[in-house]
This record gives sequence, structure tokens and C-alpha cells, in this order.
Amino acid sequence: MTKMINLTINNIPVTVPEGTTILQAAKTAHIEIPTLCYLKDINCIGACRVCVVEIVGRRGLFASCVYPVEEGMQVLTNTPTVRSSRRTTIELILSTHHKKCLSCVRNNHCELQSLAYDYAVDEDRFVDEEPIYKIDDLSPYVVRDNNKCIQCLRCVSACNKVQTVGAIGQIRRGFNVHVGSPFEISLNETSCVGCGQCIVACPVGALYEKSNIDQVWDAIADPKKKVVFFTAPSIAATLGECFDLPVGTNVEGKMVQAMKMLGDVEVFNMNVTADLTIMEEATELLHRLQEDKPLPMFTSCCPAWIKFCEHNYPELLPNLSTCKSPQGMFGALLKSYYCEKHNIDPKDLFVVSVIPCTAKKFEVTREELAPNNIPDVDVALTTRELSRMIKHAGIAFRDLPGREFDNPFDIATGAGAIFGATGGVMEAALRTAAHLIDGTNEALEFKDVRGTVGIKEAAYTIGGTEVSVCVASGLGNARKVIDMIQSGEKNYLFVEVMACPGGCVNGGGQPVQSDSVRNYTELKANRAAVLYNADKDGELRCSHDSPVIKMLYDEYFEAPGKEKAHHLLHTTYTPRKKL
Ligand code: SF4
Ligand code: SF4
Ligand code: SF4
Repeated sequence: MTKMINLTINNIPVTVPEGTTILQAAKTAHIEIPTLCYLKDINCIGACRVCVVEIVGRRGLFASCVYPVEEGMQVLTNTPTVRSSRRTTIELILSTHHKKCLSCVRNNHCELQSLAYDYAVDEDRFVDEEPIYKIDDLSPYVVRDNNKCIQCLRCVSACNKVQTVGAIGQIRRGFNVHVGSPFEISLNETSCVGCGQCIVACPVGALYEKSNIDQVWDAIADPKKKVVFFTAPSIAATLGECFDLPVGTNVEGKMVQAMKMLGDVEVFNMNVTADLTIMEEATELLHRLQEDKPLPMFTSCCPAWIKFCEHNYPELLPNLSTCKSPQGMFGALLKSYYCEKHNIDPKDLFVVSVIPCTAKKFEVTREELAPNNIPDVDVALTTRELSRMIKHAGIAFRDLPGREFDNPFDIATGAGAIFGATGGVMEAALRTAAHLIDGTNEALEFKDVRGTVGIKEAAYTIGGTEVSVCVASGLGNARKVIDMIQSGEKNYLFVEVMACPGGCVNGGGQPVQSDSVRNYTELKANRAAVLYNADKDGELRCSHDSPVIKMLYDEYFEAPGKEKAHHLLHTTYTPRKKL
């Protein structure tokens, strides 16, 4: 049984399990101690000294994020010494910080800015020479501005500890120490997979996505262009947060209405190509099982996972499903089927995807997704960028009525919706694989693969065959799963990997939530609940039941895996250098 510890915090009695930190214990007494470098499950190093407290009978100040409670301890979180120390710490951080709040991407939701305001700091008390770092904006997805870096190392932990990529770290010594890539090369030249987990971990404006907003406005204003948007499954579950709606609010109708108000545009539902992915992927899995092809089969809808394999596990490329991601499939569908049907030159169709991630900004630049040098998707916008466009357009998002997606890519199934959460692709594929084998729709819920745990395993009997499956989210967890497979410890037939912990609902392009939210709420689970509720409440729950999918195969692709489908909806992968 866990031993319980009794202590007081600001004279309030508290009882918590042994091993609890002072920071966590304070929360149970409704006391929030400010933090900066601490981020639950990611960075716990006690380095920034913003969370310091006093302990009666002990000299000095103690970092509450790493200091465990002890029996009889008396903690004080709000003394003159504590307040003065925190203020000085923030003033010192600001002494070398490029204070350009008005034009900063994090203005009004910056953790440093909030602390500076809360503690009434004098931003010029310690004036030092500001470092001049070159901004790294060479990659098509992430910009690094070290001039705003506060060395909290949250991004470094996200990249090294959670993702095990190691594209960034602390380099140099003494006053010259800073966060950078090996040999100070651009992120673009490293093994960075573009997941953007460093961005959502960053408390300030030192990391952000490469913006493509201006290209979209230009295309909307261009009379020669027809502009179409499509939105990924998780966007409706998170966009509301950019407009101060509670985490876990489904804003699908408002989102479509707002996008229609951006200009003369079509707004389609990417859940349609999530369904299409399932048709192709479930068929591919059955073929691999029947034809003695490489197993286990790994999912391929996460472009950061694909790039991770290309850099780190080239021997696994034959095991990756050849299916394009839902973004890749939608782009190909629009520049072929849709253009043919509406007699549009593919060069004049400007395709904008709205996606939860920065890795998909890289994906749209892949040569494989640009036949004849015409990209299937012209621009990929993050959830955050879409919210900025809506704000630029002066749209009162919260007051909008709901509206449906545009025909013909409007109706999708619950299977497509749950793609946005870890385990969702696996569950959706199993529903359709079961149907393809025995023709029934009885297998609808595969609950063992749900939830935000990093590695989930299950075994199901489908049509008499036992199918052992595994779901990993976060690339560190993917690495563990690969190690177990390659050592022979585990033997799966089908493995889902999503690079972001929790899946796309927690993607690197999603709304940035501050540490005060991330440290104390189940952000991933609350966002995922929107998708599982949409699935549960929807009329259609299996991709093969979608009328849009039936129409696409009847009119155009003939059947999953047939020649045209293979040509347009499948792709290839390339081994890459590791650096
Ligand atoms: S990072 Fe924060 S404090 Fe620094 S310029 Fe941006 S908004 Fe201001
Ligand atoms: S985008 Fe991902 S892989 Fe690249 S530096 Fe950031 S955390 Fe690391
Ligand atoms: S898990 Fe989703 S959001 Fe994260 S990199 Fe992969 S596709 Fe993008």
C-alpha cells in the first residue's frame, strides 16, 4: 500500500502519497506554484528556479517541481523572499531576451510574458547585451529563433526524451551555451522528423511553424485559382481552443462556416480520405497475410513516423503500408478525379489542407506527392494558422451557426473521425478488415487499442485468424516496439504508429496550451473524447459503409488495390541519412 505523507502548505494541512512533489501537493490545496521549465511527462529538471518555495527550518529556496514531500514538512509558497526571488529570476531571463512582443507569434499566450506581468517585473533592471542568433527558417515546417529562447530545455526533452530523435540539444559552454542542432546546421539538414513537439512544448516564441498564410490569401484573391480546403479529423476537436472555448469542444459546424467566410472556397472533410485510407490499408493487410509479404505491416498515415523510419530504420521500409496518408490521398483525389469531373487544369486548383501537424508541411513537399512537378497539396496549414486566418478576416467565430461540409466530400464515418487519436487508425482498419473477411459489421469497438497509454497491445480473432496488434504513440515508444519486434520478443501482424504522444489531437500544429493547463489536465484524452463521441453518435461507423467511398470506387477507382487506386493512392519511401 502506498505510504501517505502529511505536511502543511501555507499552513493548510495536506495528505498525499509518498513521492509526490511539493508542486503537485500544492495543487491539492488549490495553490498553484508558477513554473517555466517544468512540463509534466516531458521536462522535470528544476532548472529555471521560478517554482522555488521555502521550507520552515531549512535554509535556502527549493525547486518545488523536483522536491519530494516529507512527513511533517511545512512549506511556504508565498513569502517576500519567494516573491522577490521569482521576480529576480524573470528579470534575469529578460535581460538577454529579444522583447519583441507586439510582433511575436506567442504574444498574449506566452508563459514568460504572463509571469512578467504577474510578478510586475522591471524588464530593464538587468540590461545585458542581447545575443544575435541567426533565425533558422530553412525547413518548410519549423522556424527556430534562438533570440527568444529562455533555455528551459522543454524542446530538448521533447525531441530527445519523448521522440528519441535528438535533432536539437544544448551546445557550447558558459555564456555561449544555447539550444542548437549538431554542428549548428539547419534543422532541415538533420534527422528532424518535423513532428513539432518542440513547438508545443516551448513556453515562448522561440519555435513556431513556417507560416503559409500569405500564400493562401494570395490564392483566394487570384481570380484564376479555384481554392479548396480540407480539414483533418482532429481539427474540429481543437480549433475552439484558439477562441477560448473549453478543451474538448467540438466546433465542426462553426469551423466549416468560418472557412466558407474566408472567400469563394470549397471546404471538404478529410475524414473522407481517412475512410479511403482504411479501405486501401485493410485490403493491403489482408493481401500481405495471404501472400507471404513482409509483416508486421506498419501504418503509414503519419509523415513524421515515415521520416523517422527513413532516417533510422531503412530496413523496415518494406513493412510500411504503401498507402499515402489521408492528406496525400486527398491531394491526389482532388488533382485527378475532382479536376477531371469539373474540367479544371490541376495547375489552377489550389489545394489547402488544414492539419494538426508540422510534419505534413514537410510531406506536401515530397517529390512522390508532386506528379509532373505539380504538388497534390499546395499548402498545409496548422490549426493555429487557420485560427489566425479566421481572426484576420474578423469573423466572430464563437457566434457562428453550424454548417455542413461541401459536396461531394462531405459525408464520412466514425472510423474516419477516430483517426485523430492514438489507436484510431488501428480500430478503424480492424472494423473493415473484419468486414472484408466475414462480410459482417459486428466488430465495431476494439477498446483495448483506445486510451493515451504510449504502447497498447491486443489480439483479436478475425475470420478465424488471430491478429496480434500493437499501437504506439510517441517515437520513443515506437523505438521500444521496434526493438521488441527485431529482438524476437514480440510478434505482431499489424502495428500503428503515430509520432505525437496521444496521436494527432496532440500534434505539433495544434493550439499551444500553457503549462498551467498541460500540467494539470488530461489534454490528450479530453480532445480525443470529441472524436470517440462523434464516432459513437454517428450513423455510419465503418469506412466501407460510407456512401462517398462507395461512389468513389464505383465511379473511379473500381476496387481497393486496383490499378488506378494503386497509382493514385499508394506511394514509395526513400532511405535517408541519419544526422
Ligand atoms: S517570447 Fe514572449 S516575452 Fe518574448 S517576445 Fe514573444 S511574447 Fe514577448
Ligand atoms: S520537430 Fe520534432 S524531431 Fe524536429 S526538432 Fe522538433 S521535436 Fe525534434
Ligand atoms: S501524429 Fe498526427 S499530428 Fe503528429 S506528426 Fe503524426 S500525423 Fe502529424
